[in-house]
Amino acid sequence: MRALTYHGSNDVRVDNVADPVIQEPDDIILRVTATAICGSDLHLYRGKIPQVKHGDVFGHEFMGIVEEVGSAVTAVSKGDRVVVPFVIACGSCFFCDMNLQAACETTNTGRGAIINKKQIPSGAALFGFSHLYGGIPGGQAELVRVPKANAGPFKIPDELDDERVLFLSDILPTGYQAVINAGIGEGSSVAIYGAGPVGLMAAACARMLGAKQIFMVDHHAYRLAYAQSTYGVIPINFDKIDDPAEAIIEQTEGYRGVDAAIDAVGFEAKGSTTETLLTQLKLEGSSGKALRQCIAAVRRGGTVSVPGVYAGFIHGFLFGDAFDKGLTFKMGQTHVHSLLPDLLERIQSGALNPEIIISHRLNLSDAAEGYRLFDKKDEDCRKVILRP
Ligand code: NAD
Ligand code: ZN
Ligand code: ZN
Repeated sequence: MRALTYHGSNDVRVDNVADPVIQEPDDIILRVTATAICGSDLHLYRGKIPQVKHGDVFGHEFMGIVEEVGSAVTAVSKGDRVVVPFVIACGSCFFCDMNLQAACETTNTGRGAIINKKQIPSGAALFGFSHLYGGIPGGQAELVRVPKANAGPFKIPDELDDERVLFLSDILPTGYQAVINAGIGEGSSVAIYGAGPVGLMAAACARMLGAKQIFMVDHHAYRLAYAQSTYGVIPINFDKIDDPAEAIIEQTEGYRGVDAAIDAVGFEAKGSTTETLLTQLKLEGSSGKALRQCIAAVRRGGTVSVPGVYAGFIHGFLFGDAFDKGLTFKMGQTHVHSLLPDLLERIQSGALNPEIIISHRLNLSDAAEGYRLFDKKDEDCRKVILRP
């Protein structure tokens, strides 16, 4: 089959690779009908995650038709049309029972520290996201093996076409979780850093939940203009002003700052090398500019919600300011499985239409060009989807 594979930093290609096969009784093989490139894929593409090997197949946002089922699969059948969460969860461990599927302790046991000869719980495996996250081949391919198929794949009604539901695999629940973690409700004020797909989905969800004031910070004028016209955000271009947090505070009641700030940027690897106990990531320190800004923009007693991915140390984390302001921090990978049913209903009712952010539709064979466009962001590129 054809699949998008990694060949070194900024070098991805569509190659012929072996077709996936059923390995466990609860696996399925999915024929991919649509897949997307994510900001998280860019961390891999840019060569920032050492646990990526040449030939690895990327892609964690995908959907398709069930082609083959393992002997223990009961939840789906051949021919079903499903969206697959990017998190691989068993559905029945300590963490899955708490609806914390991204913390599933059974799917990525190769990761994490050993204490007293015992493996400490590790966090779920992810599709196409390096050997740190289980080394499971991704879905930017014609076919993909989906483990834990009784817990993950979610059946989609026929009347909803692929584009309307594809983002249920990741960025829509990620934006939604960010907004829920931020405590957004009727009348809230929020500052969202990053006007990429995750930031845009957060803006859509904040609007849906009744936020009154949504600030959005980025430096790509076309992304800010889109967010302004689509979600009514107040755009702030950080290339044009020194301190976005100051500009935000000036526009809040009583100069208090916003109720919540969302960091939809994540790490930009720069600086010194570090290694963390839990992840054994060998990464450069992350600059954390957006996170510092979030702490500055939020009011006393407010919340900083971080969907953006971080790894290793970050420089200049203003813990003293966070303490002084009495802030709450919430963050992490998205518990897709628990959010998906509610979000599907909201798409069906018309409350959410995530597909409108798609700017590029390419054939899988042009995936390398899709990565180049989404990485450079120099022409109006909001979200790239690929069709095998
Ligand atoms: P993206 O690269 O398209 O968007 C990031 C945006 O942030 C860009 O528009 C960029 O210009 C902007 N930006 C960079 N530095 C900034 C700064 N200092 N202040 C404000 N904006 C800044 O990526 P995306 O697809 O929107 O993903 C965003 C982040 O979310 C990534 O870190 C990605 O890995 C992460 N993510 C996390 C999860 C999760 O489960 N928590 C899921 C999906 C994506
Ligand atoms: Zn993603
Ligand atoms: Zn589990």
